[in-house]
Amino acid sequence: MQNTATPTHCPYCALQCGMNLTTAADGTVEVTERADFPVNRGALCGKGRTAPAVLAASARLTSPLVRDASGTLVPAGWDEALDLIAGNLSRTRAEHGADALGVFGGGGLTNEKAYTLGKFARVVLGTSQIDYNGRFCMSSAAAAGTKAFGLDRGLPFPLEDVPKTGCVILVGSNPAETMPPSLRYFTELRENGGTLIVVDPRRTRTAEQADLHLAPRPGTDLALALGMLHLVVAEGRVDEEYVEARTTGWEDARAAAMAHWPEQVERITGVSVPELREAVRLFCAPRAAMVLTARGPEQQAKGTDTVGAWINLCLATGRAGRPLSGYGCLTGQGNGQGGREHGQKADQLPGYRKLTDPAARRHVAEVWGVDPDSLPGPGRSAYELLDALGTDIRSLLLMGSNPVVSAPRAAHIEERLRSLDFLAVCDVVLSETAALADVVLPVTQWAEETGTTTSLEGRVLLRRRAITPPEGVRSDLEVLHGLADRLGVEKGFPTEPEEVFEELRRASAGGPADYSGISYRRLAEENGVFWPCPAPAEAPGGDRHPEPHPGTPRLFLDRFATDDGRARFAPVSHRPSAEEPDEEYPVLLTTGRVVAQYQSGAQTRRVAELNAAAPGPFVELHPRLAARLGAAEGDPLAVVSRRGRAVAPARITTAIRPDTVFMPFHWPGEGRANTLTNPALDPTSRMPEFKVCAVRVEAVGTA
Ligand code: SF4
Repeated sequence: MQNTATPTHCPYCALQCGMNLTTAADGTVEVTERADFPVNRGALCGKGRTAPAVLAASARLTSPLVRDASGTLVPAGWDEALDLIAGNLSRTRAEHGADALGVFGGGGLTNEKAYTLGKFARVVLGTSQIDYNGRFCMSSAAAAGTKAFGLDRGLPFPLEDVPKTGCVILVGSNPAETMPPSLRYFTELRENGGTLIVVDPRRTRTAEQADLHLAPRPGTDLALALGMLHLVVAEGRVDEEYVEARTTGWEDARAAAMAHWPEQVERITGVSVPELREAVRLFCAPRAAMVLTARGPEQQAKGTDTVGAWINLCLATGRAGRPLSGYGCLTGQGNGQGGREHGQKADQLPGYRKLTDPAARRHVAEVWGVDPDSLPGPGRSAYELLDALGTDIRSLLLMGSNPVVSAPRAAHIEERLRSLDFLAVCDVVLSETAALADVVLPVTQWAEETGTTTSLEGRVLLRRRAITPPEGVRSDLEVLHGLADRLGVEKGFPTEPEEVFEELRRASAGGPADYSGISYRRLAEENGVFWPCPAPAEAPGGDRHPEPHPGTPRLFLDRFATDDGRARFAPVSHRPSAEEPDEEYPVLLTTGRVVAQYQSGAQTRRVAELNAAAPGPFVELHPRLAARLGAAEGDPLAVVSRRGRAVAPARITTAIRPDTVFMPFHWPGEGRANTLTNPALDPTSRMPEFKVCAVRVEAVGTA
């Protein structure tokens, strides 16, 4: 016999598919269809369907671990573990100052945890050195969106608008692998007569469904967007009225685009002029069209400018801020959107407020009951923070991240983690990063706790607790409460998620990401609420306005969130990637995901069904490159960059450019793709260049 189904959401990606969880009499948890949630309407990918396996994984941690004198992690009590962490953090601060303490969060943490982690770093530890792995995810799109529109919300319109538009350009996005239930939006678009253009160096499963697939050389999609904009101008397709009424900066952007001749763009990108013309024709023909980016254009050392170039295309053609049209980013991590709004970013306070804004500091400090002058300023970005471990940063508290697998130049970051005076990690399993820690705290996950996330649509959702956590684990909120208490801050760190959310509402009130009109009750009743959603204003006489704010599914229809209400063009030009091929490293490497694994694989590698489908890394390469190497399908190949060497079997396919190899990044060890990736940073977003670096490929044994 089964108990009542608990409606909740998937623990993995930013689509946040709705699902029901039921617990059978024998304690096993099952995922069942939840058709009432409009985004996925019951559909789930294999990761979502098998998510309960992680709850019961044999690798699940159920006791704190501390490193003993022999260097072995051994079980310990909670008091001992928390005392050890608090003692070491205090000692580091006393000896080296507060900024010698680092805090690293994750885009999978709930809004309540992200909020509390940021507050803990700034109020309890007094350190500026906090950032999170979302910096590696969508920070370039966030920076470009903020520059152009005055506000970054991944999608400024709901996914339900996608099938109703006329054309979608998907740039560096492969939803067929990363979020399969979303693919139906693009299928329906084509069924409705719309067209799909996919820009990707690989003919992915998504690209196979496109009306037009453009396969630029990795790192050149900025030039591709400029070439399209050049043709838009040359062919008289600019929406002059819109540009005049709703934008600024067109002349500089126009001049930059006109300096990029289509023939020159063809030489840079490998995309032919007729293909460029066809893309422009398809994009400009309908009344409404969209550009959606993902990690391809964003994870570059020029990611902000690359996304800016695609936004320019939307602005010149009058797409942004119009019904069924515009630019959006398909955020990747489960709470990639909310995780970047509530204060775990190095430069940010809750409500998407700037840490350097005096009014924002006053507002948040008042909610936190502290002096605004006591709040530290901005700290290092994620890679810079990890790179400073063991030197400027001596002790680190890490929550919801596995940088040993997911950080660029991963062998170096692993060595930096090992060089710390003290490392504490909160996780569900002994991840590769947790295995390096001095103290590991076992925490509750997903179905064992309540909390909110914000999906790629900007829809705030309630994940409900569906099962009782195993004995021995505590929530991240309880961990932060216990540490705050030991570090002398007795109040202000509640352990109940709803209590934290109530505080988050007040902290976000009046900010760009205003959650003040959202409550757990509304989230439960309304299947999510889109931010901004301000609390109703007080009516004269002290009565509350009877109507709650409905939330904001669509942004920018009347005005953009800039001071003058106009969108801003970015005057961007093409430039080479930080590392171009040369004699020693003649091939380009690009990295990405496969459908059966998720991010660093810490959870999905523990699920037998997913492991069977995707058991390990591989090197995808074109038959011409394979022939040059004398490599056959499955042969071990060494991929070598200036940062290290990774070995994985060959997967030979014509779906990739002959000058490029692809590796998925979900695995540690010999086949770790991020051993190779380049930490060159985007100057604005501080995004590392995961998506392109120079390598050489060798058949193993012949090097
Ligand atoms: Fe979960 Fe994403 Fe798969 Fe949906 S698409 S089931 S949210 S992993």
